[in-house]
Amino acid sequence: MEKQAAQELIQFINESPTNYHAILNLKKQLSKNGFKQLFSGEAWHLERGGKYFVTKNHSSLFAFIPGEGNMAENGFKFICAHSDSPSFRIKPSAEMTVAGKYLKLNTEVYGGPILYTWFDRPLSLAGRVLLKSDNPLKPAVQFVNFKRPLLIIPHLAIHFNRTINEQGNPLSKQRDMLPVIGMINEHFEKDNFLLKLIATEMQVDPELILDFDLTLYDVEKGCFTGINDEFISCGRLDDLAMVHAGMKALTASGKSSKTKVLAIFDNEEVGSGTKQGAGSPILRTIIERIVFGLGGTQEDLYRAIHNSFMISADMAHALHPNYPEKHDPTNHPIMNGGPVIKLNANQKYVTDGDSAAVFATICRMADIPYQTFVNHSDMAGGSTLGNILLSQMELRGVDIGNPMWAMHSVRETAGTQDHDYVIKAFTTFYNI
Ligand code: ZN
Repeated sequence: MEKQAAQELIQFINESPTNYHAILNLKKQLSKNGFKQLFSGEAWHLERGGKYFVTKNHSSLFAFIPGEGNMAENGFKFICAHSDSPSFRIKPSAEMTVAGKYLKLNTEVYGGPILYTWFDRPLSLAGRVLLKSDNPLKPAVQFVNFKRPLLIIPHLAIHFNRTINEQGNPLSKQRDMLPVIGMINEHFEKDNFLLKLIATEMQVDPELILDFDLTLYDVEKGCFTGINDEFISCGRLDDLAMVHAGMKALTASGKSSKTKVLAIFDNEEVGSGTKQGAGSPILRTIIERIVFGLGGTQEDLYRAIHNSFMISADMAHALHPNYPEKHDPTNHPIMNGGPVIKLNANQKYVTDGDSAAVFATICRMADIPYQTFVNHSDMAGGSTLGNILLSQMELRGVDIGNPMWAMHSVRETAGTQDHDYVIKAFTTFYNI
């Protein structure tokens, strides 16, 4: 069992409690590997073979290496993934007191978490803080991560709901899911309590804080589990496992005639419709800047898009040991059986026979196994990045992901060996 890659993944996720922190860590890794940061508002001076990245909203990132060959003929190789995960966002004026004694915070659910899994866990807070600056249109940005257990969402005792294990228990996001942050004592000041807490943590004047984007996260660190450490038990594997694998492959890959792109979008969990999401023209704009910046024409751009290939990488469902009946009877990916090609007759995935054949070939070249996923025909299934991107560019592409259990649980499970496999597949793709 090759554990090194999975060990690095666990560390990457432990240090990335939010989309913002995931992008910060990506920036660090890319910079360490010789990538230079570009800024969208500045002129770009690109060189073939140069290593670059640009971010948007501090929560999406696009890294690329312009190919050494003819751009129109060789096109682009894209690996796409997403930085965000389901969570709870702190609402404005979040402080709520109960019986004059408890202090809890008002939150709003982000994406589709499995709500149950967030109960009775020590939680912390992290995110982006916007501070006063000289430019009224550009507040200064800092990031905060409290790192220590601060909050808990206590479940109702079974004595108040005796049938909870028999009948299920519908949950109200507004009533049931609010985290308690402490007891009220004689020093407590409700006004701007949270803002002052953030200011103290960041060691800045509270007057400087204009706003913040903070979310809850589980402070318990990821780890291996299983008798032979076969599994990774960790939060946010969807989709930071694919983000990490894409980054490892891009930094490990060699020279190429084709232009390599790693595109990490935000807001996949809420439909991708933001300026930093896959539904925006952001990737198309970057592709145009690369082609035109290196002296290409509009015609070269159209040809390059035609000659490109995209791997849309988002985690997939492994056969669940307790619910085999939920899965397709003949296609049920298993843990540590290799990356999963996702297919859907109604085209919820971009994969078709042509692009599945390409990915299968890549896996064979990388000497790794691969699997296929289709929905049980009575289940609706999910969606992902690939199709959304196609509204900007008519790319050939494949939807894939590593098999996992409990997608959108606060703590998901994936295969240790699979992480090594998918990095090998991605590296092979970038090296073709
Ligand atoms: Zn996902």
